[in-house]
Amino acid sequence: MSTAPVIGILALQGDTREHQAALVAAGAVVRPVRRPDELAEVDGLVIPGGESTTISKLAVLFGLMEPLRGHVRAGLPVYGTCAGMIMLADKILDPRSGQETIGGIDMIVRRNAFGRQNESFEAAVHVSGVEGAPVEGVFIRAPWVESVGAAAEVLAEHDGHIVAVRQGSALATSFHPELTGDHRMHALFVEMVRDQGATRSL
Ligand code: GLN
Repeated sequence: MSTAPVIGILALQGDTREHQAALVAAGAVVRPVRRPDELAEVDGLVIPGGESTTISKLAVLFGLMEPLRGHVRAGLPVYGTCAGMIMLADKILDPRSGQETIGGIDMIVRRNAFGRQNESFEAAVHVSGVEGAPVEGVFIRAPWVESVGAAAEVLAEHDGHIVAVRQGSALATSFHPELTGDHRMHALFVEMVRDQGATRSL
């Protein structure tokens, strides 16, 4: 992929505008995704933070849940932040009734895990694969990852809890790098999309 990769942002609910700015800064062309057919037009997809129960309900309502699962299974690179991380978990420890996920990462997440102790906070996070200073992690009623399966790689922990995970071309963070002006997480994802572009066959 020599030209800029086209990265979609699942635009059902959440902080899509901040992701758009970060992705553009990291060298991507960005498109909102709200319909199943739009999934076929992107090289990668960001699932923003927001409220995972709302994103789940809207994805089902708009007929997106199954297409999302299919594309992720087929290798579409995805990056989920906060509520987006929850959407990428194969299992939620404490789902609301009827709450579904796309899945794609063999991990169990606990919703609002940090939120009970502290609604919102910032912390320096060392992320494996991100060079230089630690990433400034913005945690907003954030989930943490209780456990990961063998295929998932833990990229970062905070206070003994897993907060960044990668499995193949799927990436998830508990925190919101799109809110900091530091685009290294998005650059990492754009790199994953470029790598996958050479091999993916949808
Ligand atoms: N607590 C929210 C949820 O369960 C996530 C919060 C966020 O994305 N900032 O979806």
